[in-house]
Amino acid sequence: MTRVLLTGASGFIATHILDILLAHGHSVRLTVRSADKAEKLIAAHPEHKDQIDYVIVKDIAEAGAFDEAVKSDPPFEVVLHTASPFHFNVKDTKKDLLDPAINGTTGILKAIKKYAPTVKHVVVTSSFASIIHPKEGKWPGKVYSEADWNPTTIEEADSDPTTGYRASKTLAEKAAWKFLEEEKPNFTLSTINPPLVFGPVKPYMQALESINTSNERFCNFLNGKNKEKLPANSGFVWVDVRDVAAAHVAAFEKPEAAGKRFFVVEGSNFSNQQTADIILKHFPEYKDKLPATREENDGFDYLEGGLYTVDNSRSKEVLGLKYHSFEDCVVNTVKSLKELGL
Ligand code: NDP
Repeated sequence: MTRVLLTGASGFIATHILDILLAHGHSVRLTVRSADKAEKLIAAHPEHKDQIDYVIVKDIAEAGAFDEAVKSDPPFEVVLHTASPFHFNVKDTKKDLLDPAINGTTGILKAIKKYAPTVKHVVVTSSFASIIHPKEGKWPGKVYSEADWNPTTIEEADSDPTTGYRASKTLAEKAAWKFLEEEKPNFTLSTINPPLVFGPVKPYMQALESINTSNERFCNFLNGKNKEKLPANSGFVWVDVRDVAAAHVAAFEKPEAAGKRFFVVEGSNFSNQQTADIILKHFPEYKDKLPATREENDGFDYLEGGLYTVDNSRSKEVLGLKYHSFEDCVVNTVKSLKELGL
């Protein structure tokens, strides 16, 4: 049993991490923005309620936000920091994205160093956003891996919401590694760097009106928004949320994960036509919500002319990940959205 602090526990990815932590017998403190969210999480795990406690951290961007959260008896050994804004409703890039991502990450590392010296390992949820070179576009022949860093700068962050989000993740992850190098704390660090994360939502935490950003596209397949024509593919590589969650837990349970970034990506490309085909095969009741005509090449036209590929070998070798297939991911995502009433 390990005493673990899980930040942003109400989030799409974190709710899956919590399931695995509890199943592995760990004792978990959640940080959430409201007691209501924590109570829902606890109520969803009645058989593990003695393993869970929580604290409210209303805004991770604030100085000292985590100072109290990291103090615990019994003390923490592990911190999983997932909290960070992932949305594109941006009015003020600094306030909405950069500050919570960067200050949230450096803030929790400072708090651990100062108030939780028993912590041995920290896992930060980073992103493919910190790896990709956006200006290179499809970059045929390129193989992305943990060796790559998005070269974006803070000055570019204001260009558009996507660049702002990518900058927030890149600069937050860079700040985390810099902290380790300069501050030489008692703990080691791993980062988990997924691309678009799809997969089942937890009906007790999500509502259709506020579905997490990466799963919004699935709602549009089921509610008829794509009926006339499928939208152009946005995003080419993906991973199942259950694999991302497993990666976070393996990253502290396996000592050899310390000091490493992990590009957690399934490895195959996906298309909107392929998604529609899988939905139709398993859930024919949505036939009228999907376009009657099919895209050529199953919607994989974007592969013409070449596209970068990805290397996920470290995640398999060190973390032991076995990735869910796209079909399994789509089926389980749709099942969970049906439970929400779609
Ligand atoms: P969610 O939006 O579902 O979760 C984000 C979590 O962060 C929520 O718990 C949210 O709280 C919390 N949060 C956000 N801003 C603040 C703030 N200012 N103060 C306190 N808490 C805050 O997104 P995901 O689960 O998808 O994302 C989790 C992590 O994974 C993020 O770091 C994201 O960047 C990263 N990621 C996600 C990918 C994806 O495709 N989903 C891909 C790659 C990385 P609340 O619930 O109250 O809003």
